[in-house]
Amino acid sequence: MKKDYSNYLQNTPDADGNFGNYGGAFIPPQLTGPMKEIHEAYLKISRSHRFIEELRSIRKHYQGRPTPVYHAARLSEKCGGAQIYLKREDLNHTGAHKINHCMGEGLLAKYMGKKKLIAETGAGQHGVALATAAAYFGLECEIHMGEVDIAKEHPNVVRMKLLGAKVVPVSHGLKTLKEAVDSAFQAYLKDPQTAIYCIGSVVGPHPFPMLVRDFQSVVGIEAREQFQEMTGGLPDVITACVGGGSNAMGLFSAFLNDPSEIWGVEPLGRGPKTGDHAATMSYGMPGIIHGFKCYLLQDEKGEPSPVYSIASGLDYPGVGPEHSHLKDTGRVHYTTADDKACLNAFFTLCRTEGIIPALESAHAVAFAMKKAVEMKSGTILVNLSGRGDKDLDFVVDNHGYGD
Ligand SMILES: *Cc1c(COP(=O)(O)O)cnc(C)c1O
Repeated sequence: MKKDYSNYLQNTPDADGNFGNYGGAFIPPQLTGPMKEIHEAYLKISRSHRFIEELRSIRKHYQGRPTPVYHAARLSEKCGGAQIYLKREDLNHTGAHKINHCMGEGLLAKYMGKKKLIAETGAGQHGVALATAAAYFGLECEIHMGEVDIAKEHPNVVRMKLLGAKVVPVSHGLKTLKEAVDSAFQAYLKDPQTAIYCIGSVVGPHPFPMLVRDFQSVVGIEAREQFQEMTGGLPDVITACVGGGSNAMGLFSAFLNDPSEIWGVEPLGRGPKTGDHAATMSYGMPGIIHGFKCYLLQDEKGEPSPVYSIASGLDYPGVGPEHSHLKDTGRVHYTTADDKACLNAFFTLCRTEGIIPALESAHAVAFAMKKAVEMKSGTILVNLSGRGDKDLDFVVDNHGYGD
């Protein structure tokens, strides 16, 4: 019998932040109080009329929502099968979906009377979106970033500084995302009264996976309505790329109780045999990272494995606990696209539609292109999570113009 998902979002996670066997809060005792404070404030504030109205107004007048759903007719024709539609999250202010939860987190901070937003960033995308929210709300912003990433992601470092954020270099360990997370948590622990920690995806200890999903759910709510308006029905297939999983949860959450088939796409990088990938759901085992339980790419000791993807926003060894749960229940299917398929989708979308996608989003487009051929007819809705401006130099220097 098909499972009923009509009350799923209200009932998931449970009161302790469990999504089935995943999620929870595996945190040092000093963090229990601050996490509880954020959770309780969120439950109260997010239901208040004033908060909902203010967030709605920000979405419309500042972010540029609703973003359109677009029928990619030339791409569909080129594939020769199902019709492909794109939810244009690339058209958000700052160029990606991350602003959806950063504005929510900033507004929550304001209602809680906090003065400072603290977070880590890897490639700098979350840092830029959060620095934008901080500027909008007139809050201080402190972004922790590994020294290796600071050297690699110069334009995003410049953006964060222009937006008024303080970028804190992290110089221990591998000097990348994992160390930046530790550093940001330490800074937050020193000052939980005036600061709030703002996570970058549907990951971390309870309540973050729920809170970020809820702030991203606007993507799915809009897309479902827009798609029905355009076609008179629901998409046969919906899909999104999965790093931590926030843009995917945003889209998927609105369709869980529908007949639509749902596919999350993870980066297969240079292929399964090389180990150079970040396909957590396909090759990982349950484990604990950054305060929560999920599928995890790990070594024999349970330490997170080094991961790789051509799209730096997808190279995380864990994944949101809700995705882990939805995989086990069978409601969502998870698959992969490798670097080569991603680049092919990137160049094809540029040429057929005049849209330059983020390399992250191109993984979902790659899957849709393959699936469209298999399906022969029907419809596929893709979450185009971001635009590719940040990736242009990398792509052209290493792969030319795709000729
Ligand atoms: C960060 C990012 C992602 C991956 O994050 P999720 O939480 O999995 O959505 C995907 N697309 C873009 C454009 C990003 O910047």
